[in-house]
Amino acid sequence: MRAMVLKRTDGPLEPEERPTPVPGPGEVLLQVRACAVCRTDLHEIDGELAGSRRPIVPGHEIVGELVRCGEGVDLSPGLRLGVPWLGSTCGRCAYCARGEENLCDEARFTGHDRDGGYADHVVADARFCLPLPEGLDDAHAAPLLCAGLIGYRSLRMAGDARRIGIYGFGAAAHIVAQVALFEGREIHAFTRPGDGAGQAFARGLGATWAGGSDERPPVELDAALIFAPVGALVPAALRAVRKGGVVVCGGIHMSDVPTFPYAILWGERQIRSVANLTRRDAAEFLALAPRVPVRTHVERFPLARANEAVARLRAGEITGAAVLIP
Ligand SMILES: [Zn+2]
Ligand SMILES: [Zn+2]
Repeated sequence: MRAMVLKRTDGPLEPEERPTPVPGPGEVLLQVRACAVCRTDLHEIDGELAGSRRPIVPGHEIVGELVRCGEGVDLSPGLRLGVPWLGSTCGRCAYCARGEENLCDEARFTGHDRDGGYADHVVADARFCLPLPEGLDDAHAAPLLCAGLIGYRSLRMAGDARRIGIYGFGAAAHIVAQVALFEGREIHAFTRPGDGAGQAFARGLGATWAGGSDERPPVELDAALIFAPVGALVPAALRAVRKGGVVVCGGIHMSDVPTFPYAILWGERQIRSVANLTRRDAAEFLALAPRVPVRTHVERFPLARANEAVARLRAGEITGAAVLIP
């Protein structure tokens, strides 16, 4: 098999030929059809995540076709499956027992603890593979698997908020905006200051207002979702939400949050993070997506050009999601 491998901190990804892996008990071998590039992959490359392994094959938004089952798995070859960030959990810890498997003490993550989808084959724990809705081809389905799932979980953390601000209008935002509009909510999109193309993209998807993250929205927001990894957006978002509103940080990593006056948190405003996903989130979101219907905007790159896709995402030059095709 061919893989793009992260061997050192700071990259780059290096192409490598490897023997095709054999699925162990409870695992499946998939042929990768598409793998989207997530912002988390940038943090992985930059060594910003605790417990990063080297060498590692990144990639956790994988659409694959089942090739072979390991012992104890009875699925049909040819089946299309998605492999998300949550690679496996222990099933025994206090969090797992409470149904909070996203917080499992011994969770293993795809493209972080185990090799992911920047490759033409991948082995995954069959219990954490997800059936995918029809109606989206492989490349367009791939961004549902993290941008979509984390975006959905972040939106749920906003409760019944009607006026929602989204900071960072990338892959997650362009999906969650469609779900929010479907649910009758209003979207206010914040991009990098001066990113006219990003603001036009947001308006094209139905945002009521779009502007720079240094601007104030025309109305008070009920909630804000932050997908950009910029800590300074936390106080900015707190200033934009009403009393009782919530600021949800959807990313796995963020630069330091600057100090801010207590007055902008006062009034029962909340700040919270969103960590990983549960299989229940996945079941709910993947059932909802075709009803919206969620349409993803993707830019395809051949697997061998993974470094270019990563660089373009880092530079803010991707509209929607970058997707690697082996
Ligand atoms: Zn656990
Ligand atoms: Zn991700």
